[in-house]
Amino acid sequence: MKDAVGREINYLRISVTDRCNFRCLYCMPEEGVEPKSHPDILRFEEITEFVKAVAPLGISKIRVTGGEPLARKGVVEFVRQLHEVEGIKDISMTTNGSMLSSVAADLKKAGLDRVNISLDSLKPERFHRITRRGRLADVLRGIDAALNAGLVPVKINCVAVRGFNDDEIGDFINLTRNYPIYIRFIELMPLGETGWGRGHYLSAEEIKDSIKEELLPTSAPAGAGPAVYYRVPGAIGAVGFITPISRHFCDACNRVRLTADGKLKPCLESDMEIDVKTALRERRGDEELRRIFREALLKKPVCHHMVSETNAAHLRSMWQIGG
Ligand code: SAM
Ligand code: SF4
Repeated sequence: MKDAVGREINYLRISVTDRCNFRCLYCMPEEGVEPKSHPDILRFEEITEFVKAVAPLGISKIRVTGGEPLARKGVVEFVRQLHEVEGIKDISMTTNGSMLSSVAADLKKAGLDRVNISLDSLKPERFHRITRRGRLADVLRGIDAALNAGLVPVKINCVAVRGFNDDEIGDFINLTRNYPIYIRFIELMPLGETGWGRGHYLSAEEIKDSIKEELLPTSAPAGAGPAVYYRVPGAIGAVGFITPISRHFCDACNRVRLTADGKLKPCLESDMEIDVKTALRERRGDEELRRIFREALLKKPVCHHMVSETNAAHLRSMWQIGG
């Protein structure tokens, strides 16, 4: 189905939890996080019911995210339920990878097509500092398990942070030489813990300029979103740039988000939310769910207004929206 300005919307990103075992500096505050209580969070059956209702409107791609999706019990079974919904052709997950190694094969069997794994540093101490709680070795095991399970293409999301990991760009690129992985450098968005991003934004152009190797334009992997990809000569993987700030991709935006507490968010940045939980809980039926979905599409903003150094107060950060 098309939105009000003619964009074809076929992609639903579902946040299954606002809980996370990490506290990444740019995303979540260290202390004082009040996760939603269980009754406030949509049950998996409710989410699946919603997906069944909107699939006939043209939703064929789903991403399961969070918070940390693997922190929620039952997520493998949920993927299986999604996989059985008629019309759903592609299911992916964004995860911090720390709990992936033990469930990668089960997720694949359940119908997960591929994963994006977030990884901002290849140095153990620094990785711990940015996630405040994580262990690099767990995530590396997760990446390995994803490759072995065939959750491919494996994409690595690396938020580029000035003065923090900008000296590791070359190390990340080196990974693409020998592993079939897609490293995506993402520009820091002013959505996280208030104030942290100030002064740390690094544009994709600056990252590219710092790369000494030749970058050969290459085709995008399956399920490619807004990233533009390159290969260094001889590499089996590739490197991509996601530029929400320096070159937004709003005119090609094909997605809508569903938060863990049952709100549709037509745009990542806008505070506009449309409630679907009430309709689900009151069992108002598929037609009403479709009506609400159409309403969200028609209200989808034409473009976001984020610039690098704003830090405008937003109602939700990434862990509460589903990045
Ligand atoms: N916990 C999972 C993970 O980290 O992959 C899924 C949710 S997380 C919110 C999704 C993605 O959003 C991660 O790749 C993370 O790096 C990114 N993210 C969070 N806050 C961000 C920010 N302020 N700017 C850019 N990316 C951000
Ligand atoms: Fe958790 Fe992902 Fe946010 Fe890091 S980026 S705190 S892993 S939700």
